[in-house]
Amino acid sequence: MASKYIKWFSEIDKGDTATVGGKGANLGELTGAGFPVPPGFVVSSNAYFDVIEHNNLKSKIASFFAFTNLENTKELVEISRNIQSLILSSSVPKPIIHAIVDAYSRLGSDDPLVAVRSSATAEDLPSASFAGQQETYLNIKGDHILLDRIRACWASLFTERAIYYRHQNNFDHMEVGLAAVVEKMIQSDVSGIAFSIDPVTNNKSVITIEAIYGLGEYIVQGKVTPDHYEVIKKDCSILEKEIKKQTIAYERRGRKNVEIKIPLKFQEKQKLSDSQIVELGLLIKNIEKHYFFPQDIEWALEKGKLFIVQSRPITTLNNDKVDSEKHLGTVIVKGDPASPGLGVGRPVIINDPHKIDKMQRGDILIASMTDPDYVPVMKKASGIVTERGGRTSHAAIVSRELGLPAVVGAVDAIKLLSPEPVVSVNGSTGEVFRGSVRVANTSSSNAISSMKKLKTITKIYVNLAEVERAREVASLHVDGVGLLRAEFMIADIGVHPKEFIKSNTQNIFIDKLASKLKKFTQAFSPRPVVYRATDFKTNEYRNLKGGANYEPKEENPMLGYRGAARYIADRHVFKMEMEAIRQVREDGYKNLHLMIPFIRSPLELVEIKKMLLGVGLRLSQEFKLWIMVEIPSVALNLDDYVRLGIDGVSIGTNDLTMLTLGVDRDNESVAHLYKETNPAVVYLLEKIVKTAKKAGITVSVCGQAASDYADIREKLIKWGVTSLSINVDAVDRVRQEIYEFEKKIWQK
Ligand code: PEP
Ligand code: MG
Repeated sequence: MASKYIKWFSEIDKGDTATVGGKGANLGELTGAGFPVPPGFVVSSNAYFDVIEHNNLKSKIASFFAFTNLENTKELVEISRNIQSLILSSSVPKPIIHAIVDAYSRLGSDDPLVAVRSSATAEDLPSASFAGQQETYLNIKGDHILLDRIRACWASLFTERAIYYRHQNNFDHMEVGLAAVVEKMIQSDVSGIAFSIDPVTNNKSVITIEAIYGLGEYIVQGKVTPDHYEVIKKDCSILEKEIKKQTIAYERRGRKNVEIKIPLKFQEKQKLSDSQIVELGLLIKNIEKHYFFPQDIEWALEKGKLFIVQSRPITTLNNDKVDSEKHLGTVIVKGDPASPGLGVGRPVIINDPHKIDKMQRGDILIASMTDPDYVPVMKKASGIVTERGGRTSHAAIVSRELGLPAVVGAVDAIKLLSPEPVVSVNGSTGEVFRGSVRVANTSSSNAISSMKKLKTITKIYVNLAEVERAREVASLHVDGVGLLRAEFMIADIGVHPKEFIKSNTQNIFIDKLASKLKKFTQAFSPRPVVYRATDFKTNEYRNLKGGANYEPKEENPMLGYRGAARYIADRHVFKMEMEAIRQVREDGYKNLHLMIPFIRSPLELVEIKKMLLGVGLRLSQEFKLWIMVEIPSVALNLDDYVRLGIDGVSIGTNDLTMLTLGVDRDNESVAHLYKETNPAVVYLLEKIVKTAKKAGITVSVCGQAASDYADIREKLIKWGVTSLSINVDAVDRVRQEIYEFEKKIWQK
């Protein structure tokens, strides 16, 4: 029975996010489509809003925000605590209590055990930003505790992380609502995860299933190695089975989850029978068919019956390997997949990045090409399509930074997309579709947080540039920032650095840069943050205010006045960057280190080291200097650089591939020739890693290849790479994969 406050799964579909949130809508959609979802209902966001109103909380909360600086951690903690305690102690109007208690009683007699999950209703933000920020409570029993936990879900809308996220995204704190999903607990005899594709190779013709005894938590925590089954999607026949011994399981006992020992006779048994594998395979296939998009599914088996507990799109597809046989609708234009995910919105053509008003939040940005001036516009978009550029172009890099789906090098996109009212950008396949093909998206950030316990010998760093994302990304399981690109911070300052020199206001530039750097070092402390000094090309520098006065027009900026050579030809800008580093370190952030890009000769390194000493930056255990290896000559003569004294190298495969293969990385007409997997590039990678290892210095890879190619990662690890610096969207997937790989090669 429909009510203002309660919606049963069977009454919900994916269009109901405004009242039941993303998670609720998704479970409703699956139920409606006939999939076996455990029974349940959603306490709609109407209940939350009515509680706020009933207790007059709106103005109280608003007044807290009016007097709080959310950039100040202490104040953020305080406001979060204050608002949460207001909600936790609020009184719930009787009609809401009755509706919840009544619905609960209909779930089963004797107070059945339920899971209570928050489901936020911020439908016009990419849901990934919100998912995983609010609480989930398992094994809840009884009216009283149920009401209590629902109230706790409402309060969790104001955790520090959620508040800060809304603040960063300019979201009105009072507009977002919260629904609570109440779902009957399944007694999982066997459970696991399934992907409707192979998530490692992105082979879309197979379904992969992982299964263990008991609750699935032990899979993600890596405590138990699951059985692995592969099913051929076409006919649901079993392709492969790998049975793993399981000695312990995590099971529910009453209202508690406990670790139990598996009886000997079951330890080496196959967890799902062949017929259950086929049955599950068919379910997975049909769910993918329903959503028109590869899915990441949680399932459970109770007394021989299969249940689907959760389904969400796979948001971190390994782009380069995704084939294009998939059809979500009519493809209007196709380019290179540049940043995974699916973005839907009104296409807006932007030729002048200063016309930011043309864009509404959530529109799809269509541009010929982007440069650092476009970043503010890009931040408003829910997807990006460019006509030019390849997978390592500015648009691609920033999109991955921002977590936005992007397609680059889509020839004639402006002409073809401008008549369309709405388009969908599939950043995983490079396709742009007519109309909306959005699916209920609950993102995989739960998976990210569950990776927290996996330890790998190879360090997993993250590539970062956006100050606004520092805190959020720092909360992921990463070992530091392996590539902090300076260009984004400088573009944010907006004025060519030399203008500051001209007006003798170097201090302003230094302070601005230092304050941005501090945000990263603070967020990641004590983990290292490796600042990569500016590597703007002249065409990019020209776009900064005043840039045209200083930057020559070059035919081939990729090969021109860039990187270390600039610092030596004209020391002033580099000196300001170094002053900013010194300032941050003197303020106590000793986790900031330096990396020099695009170095072309050992002499440049000598000069740079002299300059560092000149500003009082002395290399030590506490202050490390890395160089990027991006040019074949550097790779081949790396010993010459090592001899001069460096702490480590990081391989920039984007430039290294360009220069090894002679393919302009920004030029879409030769993009098909650009392949980091080319044997010549791989040869250089091996040479660099082995030379560095022999010399006893650290070696990392921060180019796109480290995020994209599992086979390259495996080779690098075998040769002895110390760390990989990965795009934000890929860190959890890569961590999991490396964990498995290291286990395989080192535990034998
Ligand atoms: C690279 O070249 O691989 C790299 C990481 O640097 P950028 O992409 O900024 O040139
Ligand atoms: Mg580079």
